[in-house]
Amino acid sequence: LLLCFLVASTEAEYVKYKDPKQPLNARIEDLMSRMTLEEKIGQMVQIDRSVASAGVMKKYFIGSVLSGGGSVPAKEASAKTWVNMVNEFQKGSLSTRLGIPMIYGIDAVHGHNNVYKATIFPHNIGIGATRDPELVKRIGAATALEVRATGIPYVFAPCIAVCRDPRWGRCYESYSEDPKIVQAMTEIVPGLQGDIPTNSAKGVPFVAGREKVVACAKHYVGDGGTTKGINENNTVIDRHGLLSTHMPGYYNSIIKGVASIMISYSSWNGIKMHANRDLVTGFLKNTLRFRGFVISDWQGIDKITTPPHANYSYSIEAAIQAGIDMVMVPYNYTEFIDGLTSQVKNRIIPMSRIDDAVKRILRVKFVMGLFENPLADFSLVNQLGSQEHRELARETVRKSLVLLKNGESADTPLLPLPKKASKILVAGSHADNLGYQCGGWTIEWQGLSGNNLTKGTTILTAIKNTVDPKTKVVYKKNPDAQYVKSNKFDYAIVVVGEHPYAEGAGDSLNLTIPDPGPSTFTSVCGAVKCVVVIISGRPVMIQPYITFMDALVAAWLPGTEGQGVADVLFGDYGFSGKLPRTWFRTVDQLPMNAGDPHYDPLFPLGFGLTTNPTK
Ligand code: BGC
Repeated sequence: LLLCFLVASTEAEYVKYKDPKQPLNARIEDLMSRMTLEEKIGQMVQIDRSVASAGVMKKYFIGSVLSGGGSVPAKEASAKTWVNMVNEFQKGSLSTRLGIPMIYGIDAVHGHNNVYKATIFPHNIGIGATRDPELVKRIGAATALEVRATGIPYVFAPCIAVCRDPRWGRCYESYSEDPKIVQAMTEIVPGLQGDIPTNSAKGVPFVAGREKVVACAKHYVGDGGTTKGINENNTVIDRHGLLSTHMPGYYNSIIKGVASIMISYSSWNGIKMHANRDLVTGFLKNTLRFRGFVISDWQGIDKITTPPHANYSYSIEAAIQAGIDMVMVPYNYTEFIDGLTSQVKNRIIPMSRIDDAVKRILRVKFVMGLFENPLADFSLVNQLGSQEHRELARETVRKSLVLLKNGESADTPLLPLPKKASKILVAGSHADNLGYQCGGWTIEWQGLSGNNLTKGTTILTAIKNTVDPKTKVVYKKNPDAQYVKSNKFDYAIVVVGEHPYAEGAGDSLNLTIPDPGPSTFTSVCGAVKCVVVIISGRPVMIQPYITFMDALVAAWLPGTEGQGVADVLFGDYGFSGKLPRTWFRTVDQLPMNAGDPHYDPLFPLGFGLTTNPTK
């Protein structure tokens, strides 16, 4: 009897899906066979942390939680606070009948940008200017470590949008207007997830261990092609144009094993991408054989109708039938769960569709080892904002700067600037402002202004660090010409640009540099030799002023390591960045991209002067 009992209890204890020695598909099938409809639908739901708790995770079998833009435990929360928070939600999931771990996601789009003291890398437009896939791979690896340091295994990055119109408020999230450059920059995927083994079947997701994260290529597809660059709008282009311009980044991401893909809010020729079965199930899953999971954008399924949420059962049906596997923040998650459950029970949505979605989500969770290691520890907390990562960000800044003008001719260059001078002027609203340097998606969704948002080096501080100790650096935000003339400066550095924005809040029809930027550089440059450094998420209106400037540098949104700017201005390193997009003369030329007929830019795609290092 005792023997019988022993055998029975060991048999009862062996659970196939929990056995890492079992083949992946056997684990998935075993777990699927044990799941109820309720448990399956729960896996398909991602809720915001502000409504999450261990109790909610357990009650609804929720598959995923996110910190949407700025939804953080506290602005200055430490890495340990994050780990504890994520683990608390995880414990709720682990206490369910089958103990399926949830996966926590966050927008780490230029480093771990929601988290205080993290390293903030340049936004993608600056990375596109480096033309350096090996560099972006290292950035991915550093970002993965910082994200994992806070207990998070999933990032909503990279954005592989091909921005065709700089009036779009997300242009800075795009590496380039050129699909080939965007495609090359998908090297960030193996940086984030690890190198896919060479024998992997095409489309199978891959994530290597506890120092890597699940990546998410977004926003599928055509997000950067909307008319006039209006956010979430309609992309009018024929199928060939869609495939050749907006799709190449997805081909490469899938080959590299990207584990998830996010759907775009935008429409393609009038059809909402969130309801586009042909492109999501037909092309992405069937033709490209993508085997990871497809996630909606934030309340993306609600926006299938106009106004949003007008006919929720229709939205649920359209989105799930299109092929969306995980729904990011349905307007009301219990309504979504009830709605989807009744559509399955009424056979409006087939069980096979639910099974496809859940298998994909479970596959990623198994592949990344989440079942074996669901809880984070503190072993990586020192990675957050580490010196090594800051050095990498500084290197990236150096390589991202594009020199647009350097003196009246090649014989009379102003740059590199001499470190030894008696007195130099630093001017402009953006010279001493970390928030402006970092742009949107930094600490807050829309970004912040000022110096104390997180740890970093402003351009002004960097200049002071770099010049000869005997050189006097005078900082004046917005001096008038009289002041500049009467002070006899050797030269001036003027740093102006855009203010932070994210998504539609950044859509702009005029692309002017906000006041008092233009008046700062006209009064300074009229009075002393000057270099103007533009901090912006895209090309801005500079044609009327360029003749007054002695030198002009596009610095994009460089992030926390402003030292990289001074490294190059003063010749410790040379300028090497190349324009990742066309610089327009006037906004009525837009959209204008390389290869267009009548291409007549101020500076073409690929333009960038070089300098030699002085040491
Ligand atoms: C954006 C996505 C982002 C998501 C989560 C949405 O508004 O379009 O890019 O990943 O929010 O924060």
